[in-house]
Amino acid sequence: MTASATRLDRIRERLEQANVDALLVTNPHNRRYASGFTGSNGWLLIPATGSSSPALATDFRYLEQAAQESPEFEIVNMKGGMEEWWGELAKPLGRGRLGFESNDVTVAAHKQLRDVNAKLPASQRPALVQTDQIVEQVRALKDDAELALLRQAVALTDDAFAHAQRTIQPGWTEQRVSWEIEQYARSNGADGMAFESIVAAGPWGARPHARPRDEIIEEGQPIVIDMGARWHGYCADMTRTIVLGEHDETFPRIYDIVLAAHETAAQMVEPGMSAKDADQLARQVITDAGYGDQFGHGLGHGVGLQIHEKPYLGTTSRDTLEPGMVITIEPGIYLPDWGGVRIEDMGLLDDDGFHSFTGTPKLRMIAEPA
Ligand code: ZN
Ligand code: ZN
Repeated sequence: MTASATRLDRIRERLEQANVDALLVTNPHNRRYASGFTGSNGWLLIPATGSSSPALATDFRYLEQAAQESPEFEIVNMKGGMEEWWGELAKPLGRGRLGFESNDVTVAAHKQLRDVNAKLPASQRPALVQTDQIVEQVRALKDDAELALLRQAVALTDDAFAHAQRTIQPGWTEQRVSWEIEQYARSNGADGMAFESIVAAGPWGARPHARPRDEIIEEGQPIVIDMGARWHGYCADMTRTIVLGEHDETFPRIYDIVLAAHETAAQMVEPGMSAKDADQLARQVITDAGYGDQFGHGLGHGVGLQIHEKPYLGTTSRDTLEPGMVITIEPGIYLPDWGGVRIEDMGLLDDDGFHSFTGTPKLRMIAEPA
């Protein structure tokens, strides 16, 4: 069975649970996941029963590519206005219940969908029903093909970081470091970056989502580098915090707390645990050290075709961790006038626990006993 056929089966199971007869997939990542189609425009219609075949509607630019990349799908030509092809896409469904992706369809798109649908003859007019993240739930558990691509994305990220660490000098700007990382990743096969790299020196690093500035990096400043390559659509995510030259007295103290929090979570996280409790593993270490208020974000998140996917590991999460999820573990401490320390690995959660894909070593600040 092809990867795409297995994915379709997993989606179909959830369609039955959601009490819909078919799902209209408009989210581009979900479309790629379910069909293999990598073009930039298209909708899928996935019936709940395997007996009728799924359909992929796209425009003339992609008809050939769609037939090649998505052999399980009937291809519908999005020719002319929506009223000209909507009936053909929706036809196999008759008067059934058609789920749409409520977190993807805009209010304007929903209005258009409703209006065009209303023009179909009653016997061929599906009922439109809201669904909530059906494909995203399936995507949270990675299959073997995805795990292989995610590992490659991480390996390339490790290499790009090593390259940056070898090259970077005091006097470089944050932007130059970011560009050096991107150039390396792209010239070694990355599709692009999974997100704009964060390179944040000194107090700027106290902002967890700081954008790289045209500012000189000085010796002794902590530098938060959060980066990831994208490989065949799949994202990597890693953070390291380094110092050029001599560090101050604060750095090893803060670094060791964050590292202890990271390692505690990496060793103790396990499937079946709530994502909220997983967050607490690291949060407790940081809180006990007196910096609970300086760890203002969640412990981590799922990663896949998107940089932030299900599950979310944080104090407000309602997700439960399951074997097969790929997650990040990224505690941090941020001191406004000084800077930040964050340490982030990404890896697979299976029945035995967390297995990091990230190969980049972490600094060890604790002095070895004499
Ligand atoms: Zn990150
Ligand atoms: Zn992350």
